[in-house]
Amino acid sequence: MIAILSKDCPLADKASVVRLIEAEGCRVVVSETENETRMGVIGSPSDGLALRLSAASGVTEVRTDTAPYPMVSRDSHPDPTRIKIRDVVVGGTDLAIIAGPCSVESQSQIIESARAVAHGGAGMLRGGAFKPRTSPYSFQGLEEKGLQFLAQAREQTGLPVVTEIVAPDDVELVAKYADVLQVGARNMQNFRLLNAVGASTVPVLLKRGMSATIDELLHAAEYILSAGNPRVILCERGIRTFGNHTRNTLDVGAVAVLKARTHLPVLVDPSHAAGLREFVPQHAMAGIAAGADGIIVEVHPEPAKALSDGRQSLTPDGFKKMVEQMRPLAAAMGRRLA
Ligand code: PEP
Ligand code: MN
Repeated sequence: MIAILSKDCPLADKASVVRLIEAEGCRVVVSETENETRMGVIGSPSDGLALRLSAASGVTEVRTDTAPYPMVSRDSHPDPTRIKIRDVVVGGTDLAIIAGPCSVESQSQIIESARAVAHGGAGMLRGGAFKPRTSPYSFQGLEEKGLQFLAQAREQTGLPVVTEIVAPDDVELVAKYADVLQVGARNMQNFRLLNAVGASTVPVLLKRGMSATIDELLHAAEYILSAGNPRVILCERGIRTFGNHTRNTLDVGAVAVLKARTHLPVLVDPSHAAGLREFVPQHAMAGIAAGADGIIVEVHPEPAKALSDGRQSLTPDGFKKMVEQMRPLAAAMGRRLA
């Protein structure tokens, strides 16, 4: 439920509306736009609240047909959210380009990767130190050592660092090094983890589960916001379908739908969607054409030697070419590539 108040209504009226909502044991999310003030109701109000709000001074409209995720929904927050990560803004006019290897493998590998992606046009560095692998026998990541190497790569290139977190107990450790905490597809509905990153002040990149609906993704994001962290970026990374020609199926329609339903920025991961290097640029472009705010893409200095996801990793040269290819598309979409 949301109450819409006229922009010029007195502060005392706004305060009374907040009190009405809070008297129901609910919380309020307030969003000021150019013409109005929107107050979204968070919680489960009684049936009478809509009527009481309609009668309140300053209220022009009460809507009860709103999404069940009031904090992430566009209903209560019509303007897009911009998230500042050091000098990078995600969700503004500039497209965000996050690039780097699937895993941090060594100090030299991540520093070389960081230099290469910075040169190729990336604004942020990715690299996993904790890896959620399908097989227990696959490389599991360098853990804290990997985080330290990421911090060194940031020091040398100035690129903010995005890295995955797989357990609630690791938030403090990962947040010490990371600029963005990535919650991976496999953990999208790990509710303890969502609450834990929600209690952090570090921005979160939340990837869509491979079999998750858009509604489930938005509810997962609501967990993080309602736990106190408003800085959430969503990511479409391909879903499981009957198709086996690519690793997953990039759901480009989901990008457009997400952009309509939520004010949060939306990225596309063309690497985990395609699974094959030669099709990554097309997936990236399709995502941007669908309205994504940027991409997170895997790049490895020597993909053939990668300890994870080498087959889908671009070479530094391939990455640079892709970014150049994206320039006219970005312009056509009214976006910029830094
Ligand atoms: C990754 O980013 O390397 C990763 C494991 O992604 P996802 O969670 O989308 O599979
Ligand atoms: Mn990967």
